[in-house]
Amino acid sequence: MHKSPFNPDIQHENTGPKVVVALERISEAFRVLLWNESKTHGLSPIQVQVLIFLKYHSPDKCKVSFLADEFNMTKATISDTVKALMNKKLIEKDQEPGDARSFIINLTPNGASIAEQTEQFTREILEPVENLPAETKEQLFLSLTNIIHHLNRAGIITIQRMCQTCLYYRTNHQGAAHYCELLGKKLESTELRLDCPEHELLSTEN
Ligand code: SF4
Repeated sequence: MHKSPFNPDIQHENTGPKVVVALERISEAFRVLLWNESKTHGLSPIQVQVLIFLKYHSPDKCKVSFLADEFNMTKATISDTVKALMNKKLIEKDQEPGDARSFIINLTPNGASIAEQTEQFTREILEPVENLPAETKEQLFLSLTNIIHHLNRAGIITIQRMCQTCLYYRTNHQGAAHYCELLGKKLESTELRLDCPEHELLSTEN
């Protein structure tokens, strides 16, 4: 039987379980902050997440099927979310040129304004992170990307537009620990991306 990280005796034995419990607390903080922000605007948490996503991503990603994968939800749930946001006049759908069955979702000016207000919901988490020394922040970022990469490979979270899952990513290449073939340059640890617009999924990651 696996040892539970929630068992305080197990936590006293080593740091790993304490890190897992700490991540769980932080995930709870994200949930509470997002919920509070959503309530303020009369929206659900997923409605807010979709608005923020639409603000920063290219039209090819602003479709129901992509959003369903992005948020690890069914297409039916995302379709309901899209309908609700359209009823509130925060988004609109445009037919995709050349494909009569496909629609691209865009923010209306009102939707863009709500996205801009709500995207600040992480500020109480950002503040202590920004106050960490640069080296600690870099190490924390690398550790978290390793955990995210593992969760992606295990099929727990789907789309990850991060360097480690990208066709163009090389390790230990031309004397660099991290290298991007597309950009033709080495990447410092802090330049590794989590949401790269040029990301091409490495087929073996599927
Ligand atoms: S294209 Fe983007 S995700 Fe891919 S290796 Fe280069 S920087 Fe990283």
